[in-house]
Amino acid sequence: MDTRGARMKEHECGEYHQAVEEFRLREHPMLRGTTYLDHAGTTLYAKSAIERFSADMLSNLYGNPHSASSSSQLTTRRIEDVRLRLLGMFKADPEEFDVIFVANATAGIKLVMEAFRDNGDGFWYGYHMDSHTSLIGVRESAKDSRCFTSDQDVEDWIKEPGAEALPGLFAYPAQSNMNGRRLPLAWTRRIRTSKGRAVYTLLDAAALVSTSPLDLSDVDAAPDFTVLSLYKMFGFPDLGALIVRKEAGTVFGRRRYFGGGTVEMVVCVQEQWHAKKSDSLHEKLEDGTLPIHSIMALDAAMSVHEELYGSLERVSRHTTLLVAKLYEGLTSLRHGNGEAVCQVYKGSTSTYGDANSQGPIVAFNLRNPLGGWVSNAEVEKLAAVKSFQLRTGGLCNPGGVASSLGLAPWEMRDNFSAGQRCGNENDTIRGKPTGMIRVSLGAMSVLEDVVSFVDFVREFFVQGSKSEAVLPVAALRVEPPTPSNLHVESLTIYPVKSCAGWSVPRGVAWEVRREGLAWDREWCLVHQGTGAALSQKRYPKMALIRPSIDLEAGLLRVELAPPLRRLVDEHEVTIPLSADPRMFSDVSTYTDSHAKVCGDAIRAKKYKSDKIAAFFSQALGVACHLARFPALSNRNSSETSSRHTKAHLQKPEKEPNMHIPGAFPDSTPQALGARVPMPILLSNESPILTISRSSLNRLNELIKAEGGKAAQADVFRANIVVAENLESLSGVEQPYAEDHWRHLKIGEQYFDILGPCRRCQMVCVDQQTAERNQEPFVTLSKTRRFDGRVYFGEHTCHIAMDGAVSPAAQYPTIAVGDAVHPFLDDEVEHDSRLWALVG
Ligand SMILES: *Cc1c(COP(=O)(O)O)cnc(C)c1O
Repeated sequence: MDTRGARMKEHECGEYHQAVEEFRLREHPMLRGTTYLDHAGTTLYAKSAIERFSADMLSNLYGNPHSASSSSQLTTRRIEDVRLRLLGMFKADPEEFDVIFVANATAGIKLVMEAFRDNGDGFWYGYHMDSHTSLIGVRESAKDSRCFTSDQDVEDWIKEPGAEALPGLFAYPAQSNMNGRRLPLAWTRRIRTSKGRAVYTLLDAAALVSTSPLDLSDVDAAPDFTVLSLYKMFGFPDLGALIVRKEAGTVFGRRRYFGGGTVEMVVCVQEQWHAKKSDSLHEKLEDGTLPIHSIMALDAAMSVHEELYGSLERVSRHTTLLVAKLYEGLTSLRHGNGEAVCQVYKGSTSTYGDANSQGPIVAFNLRNPLGGWVSNAEVEKLAAVKSFQLRTGGLCNPGGVASSLGLAPWEMRDNFSAGQRCGNENDTIRGKPTGMIRVSLGAMSVLEDVVSFVDFVREFFVQGSKSEAVLPVAALRVEPPTPSNLHVESLTIYPVKSCAGWSVPRGVAWEVRREGLAWDREWCLVHQGTGAALSQKRYPKMALIRPSIDLEAGLLRVELAPPLRRLVDEHEVTIPLSADPRMFSDVSTYTDSHAKVCGDAIRAKKYKSDKIAAFFSQALGVACHLARFPALSNRNSSETSSRHTKAHLQKPEKEPNMHIPGAFPDSTPQALGARVPMPILLSNESPILTISRSSLNRLNELIKAEGGKAAQADVFRANIVVAENLESLSGVEQPYAEDHWRHLKIGEQYFDILGPCRRCQMVCVDQQTAERNQEPFVTLSKTRRFDGRVYFGEHTCHIAMDGAVSPAAQYPTIAVGDAVHPFLDDEVEHDSRLWALVG
């Protein structure tokens, strides 16, 4: 589909669309330059709602609603009005329904669960496979539970005569939060008719009502319990609601807990007796002080929503139309060889464009032209750089995701043991994706969002089309440079993980160890709250913290670049290189405190000094400690380089099989003469990272050709920059020759090339200014993406020599200016020492 053409012809959304375009930048200035595609998470709030709420707060005095004072009475009155108004939005008759304010939809679900759980004999729980995680969790409190794996399953059960032995609760989502499929609302009436009072119904409408009306006017058809996330409708305030059919309210009589606000009288001395409030359901169930201000804000948000969008019917028509275009756009994308780019996980009953069967969500994965999966982590990184806000992963919908992806329970468990967690990068295991990409639209979405997203996917993930003719840069067959062609241009270490690098001065022989260059990433900053190691991805200002190693004075000096200086009293702090145990928090803290690097727990010792902590905390504006990895003196103990034992670096496959974008379809991958980049589980933690000056030059030519900002070598956080010797260049550089290297000899030392280094948007942080750019990630993604992953540079590891008798073996060093000899696979035997080490 030509989405741009579609935009020109756009009449259907008409007025609404035009109105949204007009008010969305006014109502949400932050949308400038950002495409928000995660409405199923939290929708966008309108600026006017905040302003109206703020005016209300400034001009009225609202007291806690527990006294007779006028401020207290005002609060009570307003809250009752909002309750009524919310019910009105769903055409729910206040005679028949009550609304209970809760923190979020999950809290509403838990309130229902508590009532059933407190039933003497327990309860039976049935839930649909498409349920959100929060509904599934209820089963843990049930005596007996059943997961219905299809709509037909539910239909059959409804027709089954007889009821469950225990009081029952059947729960399902009105709309799947995963792919937006809308489930039959008619089930609630039919269950009531067929099962009588034996089975109650719980409808999770959190996803549905953000873009669709819900009509509760027919009390006989309405669910007994309906839960909502109000911030998914209005963006603000953070509030949820539980709407209860009063007739079903009796189940709450079983609830054991009471709290302030839900009880009339409590006797606790000598006797234990209490009288619960009996007036209304919400009085019985709203424990503690109500979120008064949030409820007032809800009133403002509802008014503004109504003024901007009119009604949920209009929102529904608009979003239904937009998502049909999105679906059409994504499914029509083809690679040059005709293969589909998007694997969309459409519901079995869904028709895009039909609001009864499908909401404004598309869940999908991307495929390469060979049918392989594109890593979602890569998609997410690019989306972040290009300012698309979307969601990837398991989406809090385990049943829907597992069935769409064809993951068996054993596979999910096995993936779990293999290290897959919600939100990490292990996103393709055994040839199957472990999660998906979700794009969801809302009331404030416009066609432009859809168009630019489809364009984004086309630009970065469609291969083999004409627009790509300029892309392939990896040399298909590289002759090895003659041995003396290369030298070490620079050596850089990063004493404090994620902070600025420090260049080893020319003429200094620098020690190289199995774990890397000496003093490289010896320290890190850990968050005082979570214990996680800080990184530039979240704290780009770390680039402005500049450590250096002063071997003469035995000090690590840490200096702040000028932009950070005004935040801190001192501009420099020094830390002894020797790891004096007295400087660290006591041993027990040490063993318990796990600094997290890349999600792995690592032991690091925290410095006790308040001055050191204050220095870093002030500079970055986040409470952190400086920590050190196990000390040098322990290098030979079992603690040795604990930060590297986890680097399960895998050697690349010997058989070349790298897919080069743009080379498709005229050559099979095997013929390309490159190799499969094997997964590197801890890509940001290999011993040494080597990059090539020629490759960087090539990359920068391409960036500059597009008018972008050239990248400095330091954004790649390389340890070794290898450059071609000027005199031997004869005008032709050999970019990406390193893709074919297997080993290196630098000076007298030998190294293994472990595999290419996978990149993320962190390379976009300018190391001089800490500003984020689009480059070089955008150009890298277009020119260095293989099997869906973006690579630049090579993971490298020193090969220790056995029988360390020579000085070069006992104290291995390399220096700036050293000659560099690369070896391809079949050249190992050309060097007898290398042959002895690895042959
Ligand atoms: C978001 C969502 C939930 C959880 O809502 P919270 O307000 O975060 O508790 C539950 N079910 C569905 C279908 C959702 O979309």
